[in-house]
Amino acid sequence: DQNIADLDPEIAAVLDRELARQQGTLEMIASENFVPLAVLQAQGSVLTNKYAEGYPGRRYYGGCEEVDVAETIAIERAKALFGAEFANVQPHAGATANAAVLHAIARPGDTILGLALDQGGHLTHGMKINFSGRLYDIVAYGVDPETSLVDMDEVRRLALEHRPKVIVAGWSAYPRQLDFAAFRAIADEVGAYLWVDMAHFAGLVAAGVHPNPVPHAHVVSSTVHKTIGGPRSGFILTNDPDLAKKINSAVFPGQQGGPLMHVIAAKATAFKIAGTPEFRDRQERTLRGARIIAERLGRQDAKDAGVAVRSGGTDVHLVLVDLRESPLDGKQAEDLLHEVGITVNRNAVPNDPRPPMTTSGLRVGTPALATRGFGDAEFTEVADIIAEALVGGSAADVEALRARVRTLTEAFPLYPGLKQY
Ligand code: PLP
Repeated sequence: DQNIADLDPEIAAVLDRELARQQGTLEMIASENFVPLAVLQAQGSVLTNKYAEGYPGRRYYGGCEEVDVAETIAIERAKALFGAEFANVQPHAGATANAAVLHAIARPGDTILGLALDQGGHLTHGMKINFSGRLYDIVAYGVDPETSLVDMDEVRRLALEHRPKVIVAGWSAYPRQLDFAAFRAIADEVGAYLWVDMAHFAGLVAAGVHPNPVPHAHVVSSTVHKTIGGPRSGFILTNDPDLAKKINSAVFPGQQGGPLMHVIAAKATAFKIAGTPEFRDRQERTLRGARIIAERLGRQDAKDAGVAVRSGGTDVHLVLVDLRESPLDGKQAEDLLHEVGITVNRNAVPNDPRPPMTTSGLRVGTPALATRGFGDAEFTEVADIIAEALVGGSAADVEALRARVRTLTEAFPLYPGLKQY
């Protein structure tokens, strides 16, 4: 058997260069993380060869005895971690988990009430050309333009007016916690299902540093690869046995064929890690890091340069930077930080005057750097580097800032000694 370096040197070179890129830069995309070696091993394993349509003990293929063990462990760990009665760990990704949730609890044409994409929601919560926007009748709530917070009175008003079948609570770009009990009260008042998409903050929930939506929601979906830091994939939780049956059949055969058993094994490993004290410490550093960045970008020099922090701070792993008053637009700011060696993504701010390809904001997240080992001192330095870049704009000393990034990446080596093949 040939090694990839001999068989396909072009792709081997991509693996090498991407490892070097991750090692040599500061990863601050809020939805990204670094998986541990054990997760890379499970994902790169022979479990990728196995067809296992169905569920443990009820498969449509032979030879499933070992993958049944892996999936059962993943299910039991997910249930224990989030205090849920039922878990489906087969969704290939967050978006497919969400498709399965809607498939289980709504019919095409039903009304769904979710946070608008341009206000911090996700594509699968009702964006026009996403399956959610095409199949369902979408009503969107937004955030208050002054406070940047979800206004529960507005959610209730829309729920009473439109009588949705499903209310979605969850976000991709929102720096605060949602009030799950208040969402549930509104859902009960109008006879809707409450679906919480905790894709972004699931790691914080697992660590006990963020409220758990499971006791409040009819159904909870998530990814595994954001704050949890596991393989790229999804899962679904519920406490309702009837919904559990509907969710299982919505995932398979409703949405998917064969599950990715190598990824499911890696999910099990990620859930094991998420139950450890080290994981909790990492999530606490994640939160403190985000607060340090929000505090630094809220200081006078940043204000003077037209840089603001949406909602005035953060309770989670990300900061939304508002550049509407800055000479830099979101794209320019993203490019400038990229030159410095910091990877972030531009992000529309609510009521953004600039187009979606440019935007007037940045989303800055701390999970990957916390996984890399960063604590308060390093996040303080990162916050200063970002602030100096954004305040300096086109006059920023990119070389000097890049050197400070290098000092940090060298002090916290990522995957030291890793051989990818
Ligand atoms: N749900 C939310 C809230 C997300 O932020 C995301 C990813 O950005 C997803 C679902 C979709 O996850 P995936 O990219 O794995 O399909």
